[in-house]
Amino acid sequence: MIIELNKKVNEERAHELAKFAKAFCIYDGTRFVLINSSSQKEIPVELEGSTDKFYVFENDLQLGSRKYRNETRSIQLGKVQIGGNSGNTMVIGGPCSVESEEQIRSSASLMKDLGISTLRAGSYKPRTSPYSFQGMGLDGLKLLAKMRDEFGLNIITEVRDATQIDDIIEYADIIQIGAKSMYDHGILKKCGKAKQPVLLKRGFGTTLQEFVQAAEFILAGGNQNVMLCERGIRTFETKTRFTLDLCGVSYLKEHTNLPIVLDPSHAMGYAYGVSDLSRACVAMGVDGLIVEVHPNPAVAKSDASQQLNHQQFRDLLETLHPIANAVGRKIV
Ligand code: PEP
Ligand code: MN
Repeated sequence: MIIELNKKVNEERAHELAKFAKAFCIYDGTRFVLINSSSQKEIPVELEGSTDKFYVFENDLQLGSRKYRNETRSIQLGKVQIGGNSGNTMVIGGPCSVESEEQIRSSASLMKDLGISTLRAGSYKPRTSPYSFQGMGLDGLKLLAKMRDEFGLNIITEVRDATQIDDIIEYADIIQIGAKSMYDHGILKKCGKAKQPVLLKRGFGTTLQEFVQAAEFILAGGNQNVMLCERGIRTFETKTRFTLDLCGVSYLKEHTNLPIVLDPSHAMGYAYGVSDLSRACVAMGVDGLIVEVHPNPAVAKSDASQQLNHQQFRDLLETLHPIANAVGRKIV
């Protein structure tokens, strides 16, 4: 249940009332709002006289639901806005990992050249094997921040465990929670207290209900800037790395108020399919697209097989504009 308190209820009183209701308490910019389990259908007596409006739900998709806020949430990412009535589809490009200053500068320069606002690259990599490249850590974050300053780009980078969040907040503009970390409550709760927008990726064995509930951890913590990212789920199919769940995307568009970003690179796992899938993603009328691009994919230290080279990315981008137009959107 979501309970909107009267605007005259102050912070101290709101927290007292939250205890009665066994609820999270957040401030939505105009008033305090309490959120407790969807199994609660009635206002506790202690709150009578202090509430303006309340919402009951069938399940724990609450703050993120269209039933609570019908319009897609608007998120400002540097100079770019997504959601709200912007009609924008933001393209995010960059390598899987930061590998060296030369490599990341080459990527940053390409994004700048193509008018792309946001550079992606991981510096803490959640690899499946301990013997694979684990990322450059703090040194990589510093390189990303340098690229932001040199090229005026937003930086999105991944957090692998909660101890890294403070550094990521210091050096990046958007926090990425990876598919393997989607259930990490330490990360989710810490992101709930952060100011930076969060891109939450769907775990590859995660139902849509579990996915949206993970987003609720961040929203109920007080951070209202959450984007959902579909990046492929595991099915019986082995010819592609994962299966991009576009039916799930339709569900999320219909039922949630969170901007949606699609990641065809990790779903496909092979560069040959990424451009076609990217076009399909943009045709879905979503808020963002994140694509892995590397100056020389053959020597990439992670996800080498799926990264587009610079020319492929340039060619792809040209084809995305008319598709976005056809579904009433604009690539930014
Ligand atoms: C990535 O973006 O490089 C990544 C590791 O993605 P995912 O968490 O979706 O596997
Ligand atoms: Mn990757």
